[in-house]
Amino acid sequence: MSEVKEIDIFKKSHLPKEGWLQACFNCYTITSKTYYYRMILIEDKKYKFNVFCCPQCKSRLYKEKQTLYKFSKVCDKYIYTHYGI
Ligand SMILES: [Zn+2]
Repeated sequence: MSEVKEIDIFKKSHLPKEGWLQACFNCYTITSKTYYYRMILIEDKKYKFNVFCCPQCKSRLYKEKQTLYKFSKVCDKYIYTHYGI
């Protein structure tokens, strides 16, 4: 079994980084909800990315394909910038 490293993505806010409440990655609303974004496999390491996303944005992402597409681009860019993957 390869190990899975979980990484949370959220907007910077006044909240501590280790806390379970963070700013929604889309609209900055404080939320405890995360949304499984994607799994990236590098060599034998798995990286699981979870995005903090409030319920309103989450339902919008499910309904609007265009919004989901744009949101994915922002997430990918963030992952690339911060983790180089
Ligand atoms: Zn939101």
